[in-house]
Amino acid sequence: MSLQLTFLGTGTSVGVPQIGCTCPTCTSADPRDRRRRSGLYVRSPQTAFVVDTPPEFRIACLELGVTHVEACILTHAHMDHIAGFDDLRRFNTLNGKKVLPCYASPETVEAMHHIFPYIGKKPKEKGLYRPMIDFRSVARAFRIGDVKIVPLPVVHGNVPTNGYLFEHGGKRAAYICDCFEIPDATLAKLRGVDVMVLDCLRGTRPHSTHLTLGRALEYMKEIAPRRGYFTHMCHDVKHEEFEAELPRRIRLAYDGLELKV
Ligand SMILES: [Zn+2]
Ligand SMILES: [Zn+2]
Ligand SMILES: [Zn+2]
Repeated sequence: MSLQLTFLGTGTSVGVPQIGCTCPTCTSADPRDRRRRSGLYVRSPQTAFVVDTPPEFRIACLELGVTHVEACILTHAHMDHIAGFDDLRRFNTLNGKKVLPCYASPETVEAMHHIFPYIGKKPKEKGLYRPMIDFRSVARAFRIGDVKIVPLPVVHGNVPTNGYLFEHGGKRAAYICDCFEIPDATLAKLRGVDVMVLDCLRGTRPHSTHLTLGRALEYMKEIAPRRGYFTHMCHDVKHEEFEAELPRRIRLAYDGLELKV
């Protein structure tokens, strides 16, 4: 088995459909126009882990049959990426009450301690059922099982944010879901990756913290991946119409999409 990526969700922070919206995307019959908040499930021959725990994390696990998670990696502490964090406790139980490691930048780890002060390594108090998490600050490459993971700092407003590069068996896949700008040092690590997943909030109308189509395509050109996928899309993006205008090697991700790297 190679590296396998499954999209738990591909939507922007409010999800698609948006509450109370009757636009053509929000009322579309195409299942690819229904987007949970963004997250990724990664599997290799030796391990399985998630990137982010969005609000619909539990629903995504149920729908996609995710029953095996040995670790968690966080991109940043925006609520659309962490609101489902408490649901990791099911994997403590499924893993025989083992503490689950959670890797993130030092800033994100600090934010998690503020937002979820009750979550740590300690075993639960009597009668309480809470996640047991070992937070690990990472600034350099680390490993989970047979996967090498390289943190990729990106610019996303004023919140310290990482994408991640996954390496296994000579193949490389990168995931950058929230990003306004990719620093040169990060770009240098991405050239020629097998799979590049990149933030593309919407068409050409710019946004202050997210990439939109013009810049996202420029980055894809510079990175020149074998295959590129856009994620973290809002309701401006109607899957079929939007994808038809893209270069052939760049597609739109959708919830439940599985990629073999
Ligand atoms: Zn986000
Ligand atoms: Zn809408
Ligand atoms: Zn964000």
